[in-house]
Amino acid sequence: MATLGARLFLISGLLAATAAPHVSGIHSSTSTSPPSAISGQCPNQPAGRLEYDPLRKCPLPGVLGIIPDIEPSPETPWTLTPKCVGEEQKISNTTSRVHCIFTDGNFRTGHGTSLITTTTVAAHLVGLEAFNDRPARLEAAKRDAVPAYEIVELEGRGKGAVATRDIRRGEIIMVDVPALLVGTEFLHDVRAHHRRRLIKQAINRLPGKTRDEVWSLSRNNGEYEIDAIMGANANSVAISDNGIHVGIFPKVSRINHSCRPNAYYRFSETRLTMEVVSYHTIEKGEEITMSYVPLETKRQERRKYLQDNWGIDCQCSLCKASDYDQNESEASRGRINELRDSILNARNNGFFQDAINIAEDWHLVSEWERVPPLAPEYHDILAELYWRKGELVNATRFGRMALDEWVKFGSVDDDQLEHARVFLNQVWPVAEKRRKGE
Ligand SMILES: [Zn+2]
Repeated sequence: MATLGARLFLISGLLAATAAPHVSGIHSSTSTSPPSAISGQCPNQPAGRLEYDPLRKCPLPGVLGIIPDIEPSPETPWTLTPKCVGEEQKISNTTSRVHCIFTDGNFRTGHGTSLITTTTVAAHLVGLEAFNDRPARLEAAKRDAVPAYEIVELEGRGKGAVATRDIRRGEIIMVDVPALLVGTEFLHDVRAHHRRRLIKQAINRLPGKTRDEVWSLSRNNGEYEIDAIMGANANSVAISDNGIHVGIFPKVSRINHSCRPNAYYRFSETRLTMEVVSYHTIEKGEEITMSYVPLETKRQERRKYLQDNWGIDCQCSLCKASDYDQNESEASRGRINELRDSILNARNNGFFQDAINIAEDWHLVSEWERVPPLAPEYHDILAELYWRKGELVNATRFGRMALDEWVKFGSVDDDQLEHARVFLNQVWPVAEKRRKGE
């Protein structure tokens, strides 16, 4: 899976955790005494990719929220002044972190989004132009105009997504953007009552329709409303390498869990978009499901996890299967993980033919377990391995397949398509030269 496969991994644990003692206070734009760690114009040097020129200069977006009487700069997408939580005093030598609510009410033609994250992550996303509304490519626009699913009431399962037509394998079923994204560092750093208050503010800053959608989502048995909504609906995604965030994607959160899912999600940080993709053919009338738990999680652990976090006593086809079938499935999923690691190991050590053989095994076992990799991703891997091995005919063949498949896949994110194009442009001339014996 391209993204973290688990919906909201460990979120309940995080929400239940007591906050670090050194963080307190919400500093809004009217604060007259910004915390020392964030006073001045540029307390955080943005790290990572930051191609957006104005942000190389001061001030960073989050800082605006704690300097009185400064409106959001025209260089940033925020439609409301960011509100920040900082440290009152530093009691250890750990790097200080400032978390702010960033709201872009215009995001995706008025859907809107609120982020609670560090100024560094916000700057990273602005740098990627993640908030810019670029028109969707033709295939994507056509797909989104007629959804392949409907949200219906399901007996004993609340609401769920059901296919309204046959869905092909590897098809993008649903595209969604976050109403809310919250950094897990924030969940760790900030005291429980501040945390809930800020998340509530972040939701209430959203445009009316999206805000109402979030408040109408299902809840788990949590004592506090915010925790109950987040606990039942959030998905985890990675931003800026390791920055794990939990997000409310209102449409995706309607998809129910199955330990033998027929779909999974991919997240694009450059487009701040989640795509739900089918593992295999889904028939009209079939419920669309995803696994809330990493697929390789052992049976007992998985069932406990579902029970503890969502109060789910899972009745999916895998949970109801015979012991023999469940053991088989568990073994296959463990094997898929091992094989994936082995491919990387072999490749990193220069054993390219071994890596190719293992990749073929990996593909077979994944097919058998009905959780196959996306075709263009698999072909990208083979193309690269053949290229490294010096087999240019196969490298070109798989590179071309991957390119065609990325086009057909029609993701909102062009990165991998572009990568495949660049790869072919690199391999093709070398292969031609060799063919002509030059
Ligand atoms: Zn199950």
